[in-house]
Amino acid sequence: MRGCLAYKLGESVAICEQTGNPAESKGPVERKVVRIITPGTISDEALLEEKTNNWLAAIDIRKQSHYGLAVLDITSGEFHVTEINNIQTLLSELQRLSPAELLLNENYTYPAEVTQRQGTHFQAPWHFDYDNAYDILLKQFQTQSLEGFGCGHLSTGISAAGCLLQYAKETQRTPLPHIHTLHPVQWENFVLLDAATQRNLELVINLRGEKKNTLLSVLDTNTTAMGSRLLHRWITQPLRDIATIELRQQSIGNLLHNYQFEPVREVLKGIGDIERILSRIALRSARPRDLARLGHSLAKLPELQASLRSLACEKLIRLALDVGEHPELVDILQRAICENPPALIRDGGVIREGYNTELDELRSISLNAGEYLLQIEQREKQRTGLTTLKVGYNRVHGYYIEISRREAEQAPSDYIRRQTLKNTERFIIPELKIFEDKALSAKSRSLTREKYLYENLLDKLAQQLASLQLTSSSLAELDVLATLAERADKLNFDCPVLKNKKGIHITDGRHPVVEQMLKEPFITNSTTLDANRQMLIITGPNMGGKSTYIRQCAIITLLAHTGSYVPATKATIGVTDRIFTRIGSSDDLAGGRSTFMVEMTETANILNNATQNSLILMDEIGRGTSTFDGLSLTWSTVHYLTQQIGALTLFATHYFELTHLLDEINTLVNVHLTATEHGDKIVFLHHVQEGPAVRAMGYRLHNWQVCRIMLLIRHAESYWRLSRDSSTHRYRSNTDGIKLILHHNRICLLCLLLTR
Ligand code: ADP
Repeated sequence: MRGCLAYKLGESVAICEQTGNPAESKGPVERKVVRIITPGTISDEALLEEKTNNWLAAIDIRKQSHYGLAVLDITSGEFHVTEINNIQTLLSELQRLSPAELLLNENYTYPAEVTQRQGTHFQAPWHFDYDNAYDILLKQFQTQSLEGFGCGHLSTGISAAGCLLQYAKETQRTPLPHIHTLHPVQWENFVLLDAATQRNLELVINLRGEKKNTLLSVLDTNTTAMGSRLLHRWITQPLRDIATIELRQQSIGNLLHNYQFEPVREVLKGIGDIERILSRIALRSARPRDLARLGHSLAKLPELQASLRSLACEKLIRLALDVGEHPELVDILQRAICENPPALIRDGGVIREGYNTELDELRSISLNAGEYLLQIEQREKQRTGLTTLKVGYNRVHGYYIEISRREAEQAPSDYIRRQTLKNTERFIIPELKIFEDKALSAKSRSLTREKYLYENLLDKLAQQLASLQLTSSSLAELDVLATLAERADKLNFDCPVLKNKKGIHITDGRHPVVEQMLKEPFITNSTTLDANRQMLIITGPNMGGKSTYIRQCAIITLLAHTGSYVPATKATIGVTDRIFTRIGSSDDLAGGRSTFMVEMTETANILNNATQNSLILMDEIGRGTSTFDGLSLTWSTVHYLTQQIGALTLFATHYFELTHLLDEINTLVNVHLTATEHGDKIVFLHHVQEGPAVRAMGYRLHNWQVCRIMLLIRHAESYWRLSRDSSTHRYRSNTDGIKLILHHNRICLLCLLLTR
């Protein structure tokens, strides 16, 4: 119990066991640390979160802003490695994975956002030594090189991976056969979601840090924990490859046809968390109930295969093949493990009768002991005529004959006194002693035999680890696909079309989470963004539905990239490389950043990293400063995004002045939301219409306001010690990390790029 608390606090717990034989050892019996439980290496079912991966991570640094990141989930054997060239991407990955424990190299200084994470600790630099790391990995995978895994080109990543594996071995103190490959992360395969986007879109955790009312909570009706964990990954790591996405879509379509997902889900309900059971088998810590559950789960596979037989699509057929049936393992597990085994093998009673003759014989000796003792009791009562005579047993004194104090004097002479209690005397007779030796040795021999048979069974299962792991990963995928089919049916989702052409066309889109929370019907809205309509400037009153609208577009785009159906009657989505959001502002006091600074850092991240294939959501910027400073920043950002980057952008704003930018930028479109008065109430229509909102209290920039903005620019020049390049009209800062781009004859082009 103390261990549970300690690991939650980020502490480690060493488990020591007596390893020597007390009967043989002189002096203290030998004891050893058999395992160290740390937050990132726990494998016990009771300590793990069922629906999330438990990642252990390591980060090495070679040069400034070049990170090697390795992550390992010891409960599934997944092992990934990558190299990252900017801090924002590293932070996004940490946000996505949320590792329980993070190992850093003592030799380097890491950004505060990394070191402040719970479960972070430093390791001596030699743990990250490249040659050492490479050797450890080769030994683990029993290969001659890492080229075969596609990791040959990585170096900082390999150092991190080696450190991680070494740490896992040291803590587990047992071989880790379930870790047999290392996957390099190919960034170009995924839609990248930076840390702010994952938070703002409330994908797996809402803005209050809870798991409810998130995209995952709406979609996760998986029947297995493995499925829930996989869906979590699909949502936070959407794909860019249309072919893979379409295979998922076809599978969902197939499962939806005639409600075929229902029988599949029904069988999957009876399947346990095989993935984690397998890792405990590999770590030799699997409990009897794990094996019983594995047996029951595998026994369901023929029924599952039958429910899949009518499904015709390529991917589902492949998954069915990979799931397999494992009849010989089902047979051995069912013969070996009894129906409801006790929690631990230590106390026996785990191996089923009939599995092993020797065990059965040893058990029958101890089992028949009761009958035999009853016989002795009857016989001795008759022989002595003592009515209070009983045969009993305790751990310290073994078998004895107990007679009341009153009758004890009449005990026969062959009775040897063993113990005197308050009201009774206890005796032993030679016959009982002989029986005791036989019965007790049979008991301990049967326990030893049972333990041996159990270990043997673990060996047999460990030999099948790779194919069982394929079964479990295929079951997880099947579960997610059947779940997405069920959700598509229940929540009225439709299949989107993915295209290799820039653009987002959504007809009657909905926000899947807000829709679930509303009592009244959700008002659907359509969206068109393409090369001619690059940016929507969205205006309207507070509570009008601006944030909901822009988020729903991003969520539909994201869902389309996971292969899921989407909450819209029709959607055609161009492949998107990244989704950025700049929504709401909050102080990051712990990180020493004001609201304005948080906002500017997030905006700078977007301006620095977005491409023309990115989708950007901006929900008001420039709020953390005075109106005109804010307006000038907003203006410049709009210009930069449309003119320089060309990304698709949804820009919700209170700055009505922006709606006039239409005259300058022809790919910009105004849309608005409205409210009407109904009696003494305001009713929000939540319906997006073309054109700017009608402003209640309008303003255009006056000359004095222009001057104010010019002043701000001047102030920025001196504050950041800028030098102007007269040919490009661009300013460069001498101060590290700040680049101010300014087109001098256009006051609206003030762009702050905070770089690192
Ligand atoms: P804004 O960003 O304009 O202030 P929000 O997007 O936060 O407005 O929306 C405010 C509330 O209005 C939401 O919490 C939701 O309850 C409701 N709402 C928003 N959009 C819709 C819609 N399309 N249909 C129904 N209700 C909506």
